[in-house]
Amino acid sequence: MNSSLVVYNSLKGDKEVFKSILPNNVGMYVCGPTVYSNVHLGNCRTFISFDLIFRYLLHLGYKVRYVRNITDAGHLENDADDGEDRISKKARLESIEPMEVVQRYTLDFRNTMSKFNTLPPSIEPTATGHIVEQIELIKKIIKQGYAYEINGSVYFDVLKFNEKIPYGKLSGRNIEELIHNTRSLGGQSDKINPQDFALWKKAEPEHIMRWPSPWSDGFPGWHLECTAMSQKYLGSQFDIHGGGMDLKFPHHECEIAQAESIHKKSPVNYWFHANMLTLNGKKMAKSTGNSILPDQMFSGENKIFKKSFSPMVVRFFMLQAHYRSILDISEIALEASKKGFDKLIDGMQTLETLVPSSVTSKFDLIAWKEKCYSAMNDDFNSPLLIAHLFDAIKHINAVANNKQEINSKDLKELKQIMHDLFNDVLGLKSVKKNLNTSVNIELHGILNLLSEIRDKARNSKDFETSDLIRDSLSKLNIQINDTREGSSFKIK
Ligand code: AMP
Ligand code: ZN
Repeated sequence: MNSSLVVYNSLKGDKEVFKSILPNNVGMYVCGPTVYSNVHLGNCRTFISFDLIFRYLLHLGYKVRYVRNITDAGHLENDADDGEDRISKKARLESIEPMEVVQRYTLDFRNTMSKFNTLPPSIEPTATGHIVEQIELIKKIIKQGYAYEINGSVYFDVLKFNEKIPYGKLSGRNIEELIHNTRSLGGQSDKINPQDFALWKKAEPEHIMRWPSPWSDGFPGWHLECTAMSQKYLGSQFDIHGGGMDLKFPHHECEIAQAESIHKKSPVNYWFHANMLTLNGKKMAKSTGNSILPDQMFSGENKIFKKSFSPMVVRFFMLQAHYRSILDISEIALEASKKGFDKLIDGMQTLETLVPSSVTSKFDLIAWKEKCYSAMNDDFNSPLLIAHLFDAIKHINAVANNKQEINSKDLKELKQIMHDLFNDVLGLKSVKKNLNTSVNIELHGILNLLSEIRDKARNSKDFETSDLIRDSLSKLNIQINDTREGSSFKIK
């Protein structure tokens, strides 16, 4: 391949050639979910974006250590340092243990991500499993003179840090602007300056999640866990740090300050930020109610979309946008993706049936392959790659219709590349629509039975039952047609 991988580095605000610290090895840290509720489709988009990046790095031959944490303590309701701990609050409201909350939503997260065919990370560390490391980190920051203890809590001194090392590099905020824009504390906090952030918080008597420390029985600040765990597993300087765009400030900015206060060097070479999924033009977020859960989408049981969409269609829909672009989810857009995905799957199935000829193909396979890899090498441009896959499908269909030919060498290579890009890089799985498999024969039988029941209901004017069957099947993308001979069904 001629081109090398070029990535957009949020720290530089520009694209640059990717060069790992150790040849052939990549260390990548991605901020994981706060496990206090089910992940919504917006969260899933960010993790699918990083799955694409992880998969492509693996495909290029890198040995990748992918660390994605689970936040199970320390993330307060408000991203500044106030409010209740999100997990404690859920535990209190449901009268269960905080660790029951954590277990429930960690399992939901893993289960959901596997439906989307994302690869598990190499390490999935938890904040509560790394309290000792976080306390050690705070001691080091205090020793460097960049943190102060007050009433059992410890805060990072942003102004003092900024005197030596510039704060705000990633988000582009300068300290004056920050001072101007940070709301005053109004006696709510012990912090000296409002822009300071918590490294350790003393727990109030009612706060259940607490650990002993040199300063108080308390809990770590949210930003600290990612610095502690990334350094533990990837070292004080590593290749890639990622997360959703909304984490740039304050979370990632604070992570940089924590690491730099100790090591005096940038902890991360390339910062990647995935853009947001929106619904009705607004960021998908649990807190505003503007969200939809993956299972609601797969089952069709939701008030937003009339139809159901499978995990692979939703994944394909997300990959049809560049990971740095905002993506708005809508029924029309999902329908279009479903059509495109079906076309791709049909093409992949047709590819398996092609008969080679001895004639050299007019389709320039080498140039096409180069275009596919150039797309991915240009900051993981999956929508462009998908457009190139459709070019290949056009050729495949033309060969199937005897309008073009392909020789056996090219056919073998085309199959290999399509498999590599479709399955390994994009992480898509083809759902065979062929109704001849044994499972589908059973499905056919059940659908025939449902059609018969529906006919009976219609004949006896029980339209409530007949409509229920039709509407429920429609949500599963199975269309019932009424003919003079009775109902027939079609799987769309
Ligand atoms: P949280 O559990 O709130 O810490 O979020 C987990 C991840 O989901 C973070 O990387 C967020 O940036 C990301 N995220 C939250 N909302 C959205 C959204 N609407 N679209 C894409 N990513 C999101
Ligand atoms: Zn983080």
